[in-house]
Amino acid sequence: MTENKSVVYFADAQLEKMEQAKSLPAKLKRLVRKMNFAGKIKGKKVGIKMHFGWGLNFTTIHPVFIKALVEEIMAEGAKEVKIIDDNAKNGIGRGYLREIVGCPAVSTFGETWKYGYWEKIGFKSIDKIFFSGEALDSEFLINLSHLKGHGDCGFGGAIKNIGMGMVDNPSRRKLHHLEGAIVYDKNKCNYCLKCAKVCQRDAIGLQSAENKKKGKKEIEIFTHNCTYCQHCIIECPRGALKMNNRNFNNFAKGMAVVTSKFLKKLNPENMTYINFLTNITIYCDCWGFSSPPIVPDIGILGSSNICAIETASLDMIKTENLLEKGLPKDQRELLDNKGHLFEKIHAKNPYLMINYLSKYSGFTTGYKLDEVN
Ligand code: SF4
Ligand code: SF4
Repeated sequence: MTENKSVVYFADAQLEKMEQAKSLPAKLKRLVRKMNFAGKIKGKKVGIKMHFGWGLNFTTIHPVFIKALVEEIMAEGAKEVKIIDDNAKNGIGRGYLREIVGCPAVSTFGETWKYGYWEKIGFKSIDKIFFSGEALDSEFLINLSHLKGHGDCGFGGAIKNIGMGMVDNPSRRKLHHLEGAIVYDKNKCNYCLKCAKVCQRDAIGLQSAENKKKGKKEIEIFTHNCTYCQHCIIECPRGALKMNNRNFNNFAKGMAVVTSKFLKKLNPENMTYINFLTNITIYCDCWGFSSPPIVPDIGILGSSNICAIETASLDMIKTENLLEKGLPKDQRELLDNKGHLFEKIHAKNPYLMINYLSKYSGFTTGYKLDEVN
């Protein structure tokens, strides 16, 4: 039996001619028209979940694209549009201003930071998750993702934009804990901080504000940044750090479970996906700075099927197109590893999360590309 193939619309980054109408923002408008969700947004409040980035990051989706998208949505008859991410003030400070993009930036959990909904999960240590009220209360939601590598997920796209992007910080921590990774025995630790000094990833934090208040001296390991190089374990004079089995499989399953629960809270008719395959860097926009791209710009994809768009996005990122300048000089040896380019870099099979989501949500991974000219 052949699997149904979902349509994934594709706007190629390559220009046929040096004309504004052939440029990528112009193609984005045509891609939105071709996706044909106009009938679904007429008179509705539309939310666009994106990633504002922070610090010195300059590779998030440029405001010119957001402006083009907002114009198109309003032209299709939406009542209002808002862009959503962690902290609205951060977005505004980084140029996602109403005056520029044509709609307001709002925080994922509103101005109170508490606007959201609890959802029972029941997967391993994750009992429940707090989902974004701003996203779930949108009458039509566009999951707008900038696709790139990601330390925890292997890659960051539409699934990560939900599983990590539409949950609060304590929920995110629960997900990270599924990975296992480095085990810290605080009873053996004398807080010499040799581990923090040797860590080149800033993955070892000193006291959290919470611990400081309690007068506790404990280190914290930020699994997102950690590459499991084990330098800290070797350096620790007291055996306070040990390597547990890395459990990416559990983490990938957890991400898929949480994402599928979020999707079930919305009518699939009222949600769509756009993935930007431009400025594809080794790490996520949450790093606070940017590195050069690892492959040339590919374009923009759009689909109503999250698993199809994620699969198509990964398939288009090929090792043979690698731009070596995108890899820091001390990470060139990663290319000897096996698998997809992101698997070589992050040692995590990026398709795993998609396949689990397909199993839990019913979205299929098969796709056919339909090019937008
Ligand atoms: S394993 Fe490496 S990256 Fe992770 S905390 Fe230790 S030194 Fe840092
Ligand atoms: S090196 Fe070991 S003993 Fe020193 S702070 Fe780190 S974990 Fe604690």
